[in-house]
Amino acid sequence: MGFVSSARIYRHAESEGYVVAGFDSYCLEVIQAHVIAANAENAPFLLQVTPKGLRQIGLGYFTAMARALISNSTVPVAMHLDHGTSLDEIQPCIEKGFTSVMIDGSKLSFDENIEITRRVVKIVHRRGVTVEAELGRVLGKESDIEVKNGEESYTDPDAAVEFVRATGVDSLAVSVGTKHGFYRKEPLIDFERLAAIHERVRVPLVFHGGTGLGPEIIDRASKLGVRKINIGTLIKHAFTSGVKEYTHAHPDEIDPRRILGHARDNTVKELRAVCRMFGSSGKNWLK
Ligand SMILES: [Zn+2]
Repeated sequence: MGFVSSARIYRHAESEGYVVAGFDSYCLEVIQAHVIAANAENAPFLLQVTPKGLRQIGLGYFTAMARALISNSTVPVAMHLDHGTSLDEIQPCIEKGFTSVMIDGSKLSFDENIEITRRVVKIVHRRGVTVEAELGRVLGKESDIEVKNGEESYTDPDAAVEFVRATGVDSLAVSVGTKHGFYRKEPLIDFERLAAIHERVRVPLVFHGGTGLGPEIIDRASKLGVRKINIGTLIKHAFTSGVKEYTHAHPDEIDPRRILGHARDNTVKELRAVCRMFGSSGKNWLK
């Protein structure tokens, strides 16, 4: 099976009222964990990687692994570039068959963000690729984007209307209180703002910083037009804890297959729980 566009997945998520997970990728065993978890849950998902992830894995290796893994997958999957910051980063991914990209102009001025997003939309729409952009600034660090305490800013509903109209973007990442990384205290989501954006902006909305959001937040967000939530920190944590757990219990173990195999299994467990919480479990329309 080939990759589908994320627009296709969002349409289904919208009609069935669920949130799709965007799983970030770091190495082979992590990508395997995504595919195993999503197939066990029968959940469509976005297989994501950031430019930083691609510098680690290599674009050719990433797409080859992704293709090999989803050739046995029975759930719809989109291959998505997370936090792309320029056409130079985006174009090679399109050439290699990505079906979805994010252009993150959130650190630019409003007009510059419109300008670059519009250019990306114009170029990649010809290939049937879905574009996500971001308006407002989500706190924390992801790939090459870092927003420090005090530098974050929430998405303005009026600006969101103008931005979507001016760019023709397919989905919009909003800043309403989520953050990249771990939450030190209970996340406080500005649902009034989210409702105001959803009322006036017709495209699917995206949350970055999904790790640590509880079922009530997911449920309310889903009712207010959020169709994708990104998961990165949880994956890093599940995988690395798996490695630590195994090497602690078996200090003499030198076989990477056992150590990384345990880390992968641990990640699968966590990701299956995410699919269930997001309501994407059992939403495989191909079955
Ligand atoms: Zn992000």
